[in-house]
Amino acid sequence: MNSITVKAYAKINLGLDVIRKRSDGYHDVSMIMQTINLHDTINIKKTRFKTTTISSNLYYLPNDRRNLVYKAVDLFRENQPVTSGLSIHINKRIPVAAGLAGGSADAAATLKGLNTLFQTGLSLEELMDLGIKLGADVPYCLLMGTALSEGIGEILTPLPPMPNCYILLVKPNISISTKYVYENLSLDENNTRHPDILSMINALNEDDIHKFASYMDNILETVTAKEYPVVEKIKKIMKENGALASLMSGSGPTVFGIYKDKVEAEKAYRFFKSSRFGKQVYLTRPYFP
Ligand code: ATP
Repeated sequence: MNSITVKAYAKINLGLDVIRKRSDGYHDVSMIMQTINLHDTINIKKTRFKTTTISSNLYYLPNDRRNLVYKAVDLFRENQPVTSGLSIHINKRIPVAAGLAGGSADAAATLKGLNTLFQTGLSLEELMDLGIKLGADVPYCLLMGTALSEGIGEILTPLPPMPNCYILLVKPNISISTKYVYENLSLDENNTRHPDILSMINALNEDDIHKFASYMDNILETVTAKEYPVVEKIKKIMKENGALASLMSGSGPTVFGIYKDKVEAEKAYRFFKSSRFGKQVYLTRPYFP
């Protein structure tokens, strides 16, 4: 085998709670994660040279050690006997720095791809142990599907699949720094609304999408909604247009809406596409590996 092509799927957070700030600076979280059918494609080719070269379809994506794919290759090389050089092309479709874990998804898909290409036989658990060294969301991006993510993201529990639906994504044209959001999050017991993750899990067990949607919440919105009114604005429009629930994913700025009805979802998609929010709007569905 000389080359392999792998797909790297984006995620959304159906529920996101931050439990506490740890002494090492990380935060303990409790999140319900869902893979969606929006993916990058990564082609990995062996070469005669010893080096790793990366290219992509986006001029602003770093092609060097700052790229998470590069970091994944380096980490894999440190752990496995890989001597040949690699030429990797990333075709990015997942919006960058959007709260959709595009970089983590690429890193996870690269680890899986290298494991197949070099027939190194690492188990999913072994790949996940490597993945956490690259980023908190990487183990989940290896596992995929509907899952509860705890700790800093390394404690994963598969959940019953979310009920089938349509997912409308709108990424407003603003940049939000994940670091800024976490630094400005108030976890003061009196004034913080903590999402009810347990009730969301119960609703999944009952396969009740209406109940599930009624509990969807993201604590990080308490920071971003204040700073970026556009997030609330998109949520409001989605709900007025048939969404069962609408939420910011991760630390944003992407907002998504959950629709049961295809016609309503397509109508809302067309509305956002032709609006001033229009550049990065996607209609997709949950994805299960
Ligand atoms: P998360 O939801 O995990 O916080 P995100 O979706 O907000 O992630 P990413 O798309 O992963 O953000 O990008 C975050 C940063 O990582 C960007 O500044 C980008 O330049 C850098 N980066 C490095 N490698 C990649 C990659 N392969 N794809 C996307 N971004 C990458």
